[in-house]
Amino acid sequence: MKLCDLPRLDPGSDEVVVEVAGCGVCHTDIAFAYGDVPTRHALPLILGHEISGRVVAAGENAGAWLGRSVIVPAVIPCGVCPACQAGRATICRQQFMPGNDGNGGFATHVLVPTRGLCAVPEPLPSGLTLEMLSVVADAVSTPYEAIRRSQLGAEDVVVIVGAGGVGGFGVQIAAALGAAVVAIDRDRERLDLAARYGAGLVLDAASTELKGLKAAVRTFLKESGRKGIGLKIFEMSGTPAGQATAFGLLDYGAYLGVVGFASKPIEIRLSNLMALDATARGNWGCPPDQYPAALQMVLAGKIALAPFIELHALEEAPAILEAVAKHSVRRRAILKPGQRKEKQ
Ligand SMILES: [Zn+2]
Ligand SMILES: [Zn+2]
Repeated sequence: MKLCDLPRLDPGSDEVVVEVAGCGVCHTDIAFAYGDVPTRHALPLILGHEISGRVVAAGENAGAWLGRSVIVPAVIPCGVCPACQAGRATICRQQFMPGNDGNGGFATHVLVPTRGLCAVPEPLPSGLTLEMLSVVADAVSTPYEAIRRSQLGAEDVVVIVGAGGVGGFGVQIAAALGAAVVAIDRDRERLDLAARYGAGLVLDAASTELKGLKAAVRTFLKESGRKGIGLKIFEMSGTPAGQATAFGLLDYGAYLGVVGFASKPIEIRLSNLMALDATARGNWGCPPDQYPAALQMVLAGKIALAPFIELHALEEAPAILEAVAKHSVRRRAILKPGQRKEKQ
């Protein structure tokens, strides 16, 4: 990775240039950066798919966006193919993912199509800034979509495995929907935060074996008085250990949402899905039409961002990506162009 000067961007008729306010660092970027996963566009490529910013140039059909603050969806579907027409926009094969299908947001400016852009209403509520909202593009919207698909309600008991940069938002979304929430992590500080932001029970996987986790969840379930059938479990750690824990917690009629990405495989007995009549499902991001609702939860204060993010200068990108790769960054890191150091 290196810092480069690139030519000015010129938007096509249905494109805009977004001046990046902030771009979150995702584990998918780590997989791209360190070679586990190839980007769909050939290298060299600017990574980053968790973008917020302001439209500073617009093509001839995109004038209405000029000057507006936006969140750029991490997955931008074409809108017309059979998958899009069938309501499965996230698997659109003509999709554009910034930082994968083309240059992304670890930059001062990024060129994106207008379709799917999420307008940010202004002024923002106090305590929120446009760069903070970059995490809505993926770290908030992806768990939001995973939880939406599970049809989570107030009678459910939810287990969020991994209460870090994504799971911290998962905990808050599930709690805002009225569910009883269990958060599992290996980091005490993350667990304390999860407890303050909606988790009714936090469990430390560093000191508790699967058997102990299961017993604690079962007791919590009983005491919660919730009548939902089957746990709703969401793997948000993006680690093989977290995936094993999430799968191991399946009970009768359980639902497993796979949100985190880990490149290493794990060994599981898939037949547990059959024996428990359970469901496992993944989601590749979130369809653009769900972004306004996810953003609204943030604007309404149902999802707090500040305690779960940290801002860094874009110039620090190589060091920050390495730290994220080592799982030594507790919060979601946001890279912010145009300033040397700002930490929160
Ligand atoms: Zn991502
Ligand atoms: Zn499509």
